Amino acid sequence: MTVWDDLVGQDRVREQLAAAAKDADALVTAVSDGKPLEQGSKMTHAWLFTGPPGSGRSTAARAFAAALQCTSPDRALGGEPGCGFCDGCHTSLIGTHADVQVIRTDLLSIGVKETRDLVRRAQLSPAVGRWQVIVMEDADRLTEGAGNVLLKAVEEPAPRTVWMLCAPSLEDVLPTIRSRCRHLTLGTPPVEAVADVLIRRDGVDPERAHSAARATQGHIGRARRLATDERARARRAAVLKVPLRIADVGGCLKAAQELIDTATDDAKQMAEEVDVKETEDLKAALGGVAGGRMPRGTAGAMKELEDKQKRRKTRTQRDSLDLALTELTGFYRDVLALQLGSRIAIANVDVQDSLDRVAESSTPAQTLRRIEAVIACRQAMDRNVAPLLAVEAMTMSLRAG
Ligand SMILES: [Zn+2]
Repeated sequence: MTVWDDLVGQDRVREQLAAAAKDADALVTAVSDGKPLEQGSKMTHAWLFTGPPGSGRSTAARAFAAALQCTSPDRALGGEPGCGFCDGCHTSLIGTHADVQVIRTDLLSIGVKETRDLVRRAQLSPAVGRWQVIVMEDADRLTEGAGNVLLKAVEEPAPRTVWMLCAPSLEDVLPTIRSRCRHLTLGTPPVEAVADVLIRRDGVDPERAHSAARATQGHIGRARRLATDERARARRAAVLKVPLRIADVGGCLKAAQELIDTATDDAKQMAEEVDVKETEDLKAALGGVAGGRMPRGTAGAMKELEDKQKRRKTRTQRDSLDLALTELTGFYRDVLALQLGSRIAIANVDVQDSLDRVAESSTPAQTLRRIEAVIACRQAMDRNVAPLLAVEAMTMSLRAG
């Protein structure tokens, strides 16, 4: 076992990171603090991981962070850092290392205030580890103002600080920032590799693992959820029935409403799990008494939390809808492959009957228009069109073909 085990199907990236970790290790071991990195070192202070959702951007960053914090004695004997066992590796991987900060946002954007806090932290020397590592999972969500705050920190990094930014593509990150990062691209991992990891790490039985890996087309997180979560399987099944339910206008509107309801349920469930405790914690911290009035001057903080919770709810709903749209696109892609007699592997083999029915009753041109309708729906939501309207317009277009 090593820190790289969860990084599936990314051999080239893994080699680069392992080489950087080795240079980084030599640097910390050999020279005194404060000396800058040398030219030509495989190590650098700012990294940008890009790749499609599910390719393992943050997994790669975390593994790299662990390798940087590795304290295994084997390193002295020429072994690679990143043993996976030592305290540095282990705590980094499970998220408790004092010098590895992972920033994951469940909001739509990362603002100036939180970025300032991070930058301040990044100026510190590592508390216990070898490097001060900050992993930002959604660097594409930085507002422009926040990006400019971050830029300063990336331009003039503290000697032992490493930034690891993750984003879907280069275009999602401010040009000024990405030009100062070393860029690594992750590809979609092969279906076989994903199935393998589900079997090996999660103990999923082989048939279900292969089916989930194929259905999610190399998205590890979604494959894992589909393989291990009954609820996720039920909603995917519901989404994949939509193409058969849009024979008339009533069916279209009903299907749209159900897609929205499912997403709303997800957001509500998330809110119930997180918000209540969060609110109670804040109340207690502000000196409130359960059930009683809050002390003067705390309304602002309470309001701030409420706003944050509202934004999070919106994002959860959006993410859930987004997943449904991804599944629909996959369905019609399979239909198109069948219609064109293409030899690409069908993703949704478990609904082969539905695929066949839709493929036989429509033309490739119709299927292409349907895929476009799903894409248009996603774009409409990006422009903040009300979700129900966007989804209704989509199901109506799907029906028209
Ligand atoms: Zn280690």
